[in-house]
Amino acid sequence: MANKKIVVALGGNALGSNLVEQMISVTDAVKPIADLVEDGYEVVVTHGNGPQVGVIQDAMTLLSRENPEKHPHFPLSVCTAMSQGYIGYDVTNKLREELLDRGINKGVSCVLTQVEVDPDDPAFQNPTKPIGPFLTKEEAEAKAALRNHVFVEDSGRGYRRVVASPEPISIIEIDTIRTLADAGYVVIGAGGGGIPVFRTESNHLKGAPAVIDKDRASELLAEEIDADFLIILTAVEKAAINFNKPDQQWLDDLTPDEARKYIAEGQFAPGSMLPKIEAAVKFAESKPGRTALITLLEKAKDGINGKTGTRIHA
Ligand code: ADP
Ligand code: MG
Repeated sequence: MANKKIVVALGGNALGSNLVEQMISVTDAVKPIADLVEDGYEVVVTHGNGPQVGVIQDAMTLLSRENPEKHPHFPLSVCTAMSQGYIGYDVTNKLREELLDRGINKGVSCVLTQVEVDPDDPAFQNPTKPIGPFLTKEEAEAKAALRNHVFVEDSGRGYRRVVASPEPISIIEIDTIRTLADAGYVVIGAGGGGIPVFRTESNHLKGAPAVIDKDRASELLAEEIDADFLIILTAVEKAAINFNKPDQQWLDDLTPDEARKYIAEGQFAPGSMLPKIEAAVKFAESKPGRTALITLLEKAKDGINGKTGTRIHA
C-alpha cells in the first residue's frame, strides 16, 4: 500500500517573529515533522508568513520612501515571494539536518509556489487577514494615519494590519509538488499561502495585492495531492467554543455539520481560527476517509494517534 500522505501546515508560532527567533523555533518545529517522516508518512509542509510578510513590507516601504526612484514600491506579492525564500531556507536546512541526524537520507525541497486568485473576489473590498507585528492601539492609529493601511484588534492579543485574503483557486506548481512528494522528497510548498497571482489573457501571471490564508491554501494543496490528513499546527492545542470566556469549552471530535453550526454562531475569530475550521471542514468533506486536525506543534503525533487536538471528520 502506498504511504499515507500528510499536509502539515505550520503556524506563526513555529516560525517566531524575527530571524533569531525563527532559527530557534524552526529547530523545534522540524522535530514533529521528522517524526512523521520517520513513521513512513509522505509529508508536504506548508507554512504561514503573517508576521514576516508584514515586516518585509514595512522594511521595503521604508526603503522606497527614502529613494522612490531607486527603489519603487515593493508589491505584497513580491514580499510573500521573499518570505517563502527565507522561511523555506530555514525550514529546508533544519529539516534536512534533523533527518540526517536520525540517519534518514531523504531530500528536502522547497518549491516557490504561486496560487491563483480571482480579481473579482469580494475579499479585495474587505480586508480580513492580519499581517505584521502586534501593535498597541496608539501605534496602530499612528500607522493607519501615516499609510493607507487598515488595522483591527486580533483575538485579544493587540492590533494588526489587515489585508485582502482572497480564496485560492488553483496552485500553479501543483504538479511539481506532487511529483516530488511521490518521488519520496519532503516538500515545502505554498509558503505564506502561496504568492497570490491573477491569470491574464496571455500566459502571464500577475502578482495580486493580497495575502492568501495559509490554512486555505494548505487545504487546496492537500486535496490536490490526494492527502489523507491535513494537520494544522498552531498556538492552541484545540479549538474552543466560547473562546477566552468563563464557559470556554475545548473541542475534540467534530463532524463537518457540528463545525458549521459553531461557525454560524461566530465561535471562531475571522483571520485566525475561522480559516482553520473552514479549511478542516472542506478537507473532511472532500473525500471519504479524510481527516483534518488542529493542534499544537509539539502534539502533532499525539493528534494523529487520536489523543489530542480538534479533529474534523465525516
Ligand atoms: P497561525 O499562525 O497558527 O495561523 P493564528 O493566530 O492565525 O495562528 O490562529 C490561532 C489563534 O486563533 C489562537 O492562538 C487563538 O488565539 C485564536 N482563536 C480565535 N478563536 C479561537 C477559538 N474559538 N478557539 C481557539 N483559538 C481561537
Ligand atoms: Mg493564521
